[in-house]
Amino acid sequence: IAKHVAPGSHVFFSQEMADEVQERLSISNALQQALTNHELELYFQPQQRVKDNRPQGLEVLLRWLPPGKKPISPGIFIPVAEETSLICDIGDWVLQQTCDRIQYWQEQGHQTGRVSVNISARHFHSVDFVSRLSLLLQQFPACRHRLTLEMTEGVILESLHESRSRMAQIKALGVGLSIDDFGTGYSSFAYLRELPVDELKLDRAFIQYIDQRPQDRAIIACLLELARTLQMSVVAEGVETESQLATLAELNCPAYQGYLRARPMPEAELLRWLAEQ
Ligand code: C2E
Ligand code: MG
Ligand code: MG
Ligand code: MG
Repeated sequence: IAKHVAPGSHVFFSQEMADEVQERLSISNALQQALTNHELELYFQPQQRVKDNRPQGLEVLLRWLPPGKKPISPGIFIPVAEETSLICDIGDWVLQQTCDRIQYWQEQGHQTGRVSVNISARHFHSVDFVSRLSLLLQQFPACRHRLTLEMTEGVILESLHESRSRMAQIKALGVGLSIDDFGTGYSSFAYLRELPVDELKLDRAFIQYIDQRPQDRAIIACLLELARTLQMSVVAEGVETESQLATLAELNCPAYQGYLRARPMPEAELLRWLAEQ
């Protein structure tokens, strides 16, 4: 496009930008189809206690499995879905499926602990989010007190006042609230004292070198102290080595999640994994 524009005039789109828009549009269309064609699947990553590796919960992580192609990571398709209301349809589907599985596991006697679902900003801030959640819990009563919603602080701070009342309503339904990727946000954490948060998930960026960098260790120690004082539980994200886990144990971090012991996996594999523990 750019080379056909007369010199001196403004160029609004480069070819690269046009390609990117095109690619996003095609991902978005394909994703819409994927939802209808049942190509989305829930994977589950266990969370374990640091002191004895006892499983204590799960995080639901979405996968797109187009037939005959390689699985597509949520890191690629979630940001595209987040640009439109498609993220609300996907988010509703994930919540519905998760509740369906929690209810089933409950009936079958599988002990999974709490189950956490990631919630995007547009979905959380959609007008009827809480009433839909409430309806879902009426449909799946076993999910009350077993479901937790994970949100990044960006989601909450987009509209703090509204988030606060919404979070209180969610708590009143018996659903837990967790701050995802905690510590990477741009803001101060003073907002925490105003919000009914149950859990902080410490971002992988601080865990990665926790056994090598005294600065990172100090930050985690501080965040753990903060969580203790505010009576919030903590999960360290992205634990990949024994040495990272040993450092978390020294710091009395209660729980962790990471490739070291368990990757995100489909349901059948999860139930086998749980039975082995
Ligand atoms: P997140 O919620 O922070 O999830 C943690 C990510 O770290 C997951 O990536 C997980 O597979 C990965 N991970 C776990 N342990 C390790 C580890 O030891 N090392 C490394 N390198 N990575 C680890 P995943 O599954 O690709 O998901 C990426 C992001 O996509 C999630 O980050 C979350 O923000 C988003 N996402 C996933 N599923 C959903 C969903 O159902 N709804 C929404 N709105 N977002 C989702
Ligand atoms: Mg998460
Ligand atoms: Mg995270
Ligand atoms: Mg994340």
